[in-house]
Amino acid sequence: MAGRYHGRPACSNVAGPAAPSLETGRRDAYSAGMAGQSWDFDLVTIGAGSGGVRASRMAALAGARAAVVEESALGGTCVNAGCIPKKLFVYASHFSDDFADAAGFGWTVGARSFDWARLLANKDREIERLNGVYARLLDDAGVTRLEGRATFVDAHTVEIDGRRHTAANVLVATGAAPVLPEVPGGEHALTSGQMFHLPALPARVVIIGGGYIAVEFACILHGLGVAVTLLHRNPLFLRGFDDDVRRTLAEEMRRRGVDLRFGVRVTRIERHGDERRVVLEDETALATDAVLCAIGRRPLTAGLGLERAGVATGPAGAIVVDEYSRTSAPSVWAIGDVTDRIQLTPVAIHEAMALVRTLFGGVPTKPDHEDVATAVFSQPAVAAVGLTEAEARARYGDVVVYRSTFRPLKHTLTGRDERAMMKLVVDRASDRVLGAHMVGPDAAEIVQGLAIAVKMKATKAAFDATVGIHPTAAEEFVTMRGPV
Ligand SMILES: Cc1cc2nc3c(=O)[nH]c(=O)nc-3n(C[C@H](O)[C@H](O)[C@H](O)COP(=O)(O)OP(=O)(O)OC[C@H]3O[C@@H](n4cnc5c(N)ncnc54)[C@H](O)[C@@H]3O)c2cc1C
Repeated sequence: MAGRYHGRPACSNVAGPAAPSLETGRRDAYSAGMAGQSWDFDLVTIGAGSGGVRASRMAALAGARAAVVEESALGGTCVNAGCIPKKLFVYASHFSDDFADAAGFGWTVGARSFDWARLLANKDREIERLNGVYARLLDDAGVTRLEGRATFVDAHTVEIDGRRHTAANVLVATGAAPVLPEVPGGEHALTSGQMFHLPALPARVVIIGGGYIAVEFACILHGLGVAVTLLHRNPLFLRGFDDDVRRTLAEEMRRRGVDLRFGVRVTRIERHGDERRVVLEDETALATDAVLCAIGRRPLTAGLGLERAGVATGPAGAIVVDEYSRTSAPSVWAIGDVTDRIQLTPVAIHEAMALVRTLFGGVPTKPDHEDVATAVFSQPAVAAVGLTEAEARARYGDVVVYRSTFRPLKHTLTGRDERAMMKLVVDRASDRVLGAHMVGPDAAEIVQGLAIAVKMKATKAAFDATVGIHPTAAEEFVTMRGPV
């Protein structure tokens, strides 16, 4: 119901700690608002996604009167159309390998078939459960839930379906949305969100894009038996990842049968009945059943009325923030994808935690964007933390690189011709490990642990002094001795 209150009612008397000015220690917008005026809330957050839920929940637990506005499902992109449904699809897509690999271990797997509708229904049920978990978490913390689309009236007031709510602080956590290609027929392409609700699994899919979402969907669909062609305008996909990782993954995906085409440009998409044709610059036309466009996600700021609040945006529409996530309007803050810093769920959550400490914990806290570990749930998987070799050379000059390429033990019996690659980038002067990179099974699980060592600025000598767990792939990270 639009504009409906959930949780505890708003009250107009103001309570809670006054935040010191971020740099000088004087009372700032939060406390200034509190001193002179009565607000409905101490914090109103627009968007109940990864960042918004965490911020409003922690703010309420810290004693603030917090409200969160959501126009769609609780949990945002991650829960409803991102990380969670995607990872469930990744699991689904792995079974084709597992069935094939089982033979090497003596198993005979009988007739098998895949039911897309059942996967969707089971996925939807789990997401509905998570939506409920988020609602309970917010309610239990005492956050007021407001349903509907919020727009700014001014820097302290938001409007939802004609009802106005005032706040000492407003947090924008509206996330980002996928963009479609600006070519004729671009509207015939699907975006990632629609992939989670396709009525039937297409036999052929052309994917346009070279980021992690494009790569992950290429592997998911291939694993489910779809003929996949991935088109990317650059010479290689996964910009921002280490070049060895990018090359290794491209080789492995091609070996598996994914048609990767780099350095190509789409000029138009045609629709012929149920068929789509993706036409390239050289007039090559690729016939397909569906086109997935994953060329990036634009911060969701259009129509919010940011100008009425005095909130400045950058070229891609991202909200410009300072190191404390404060916008150009002193009472308005922004976190998560809408700021286009690092578009990942744990980053949005980290920014939320820092902001709550700043506003309600009395400790001005900057979010830390260094050494954020990240993964691509491709097949084989990719994960990395810290600097790529190229970044390390640019920043530190003299770096030592350790690299190991090997066939995972499991595949000695499966016969699968697949390599894993691990790489450490080390600063020669300090011996500090600047970056760890991996392509191979369980890469994300392995690199998450390593990320602590990299964050703690562990040296290569500390890696060398660590006794491995045998037999694992992960032990390779502590047994690489000879630099390349
Ligand atoms: C296909 C896909 C896969 C992904 N996989 C991963 C992954 O594996 N790991 C990872 O870390 N990240 C992943 N991400 C990214 C991750 O989902 C985002 O970084 C994260 O959700 C950002 O959180 P947020 O709080 O900034 O925004 P969101 O989670 O997008 O939440 C924003 C919320 O604001 C609401 N909203 C917007 N405007 C208004 C308004 N005016 N009024 C009321 N409500 C509004 C929206 O409905 C939404 O619920 C993936 C994303 C996609 C699309």
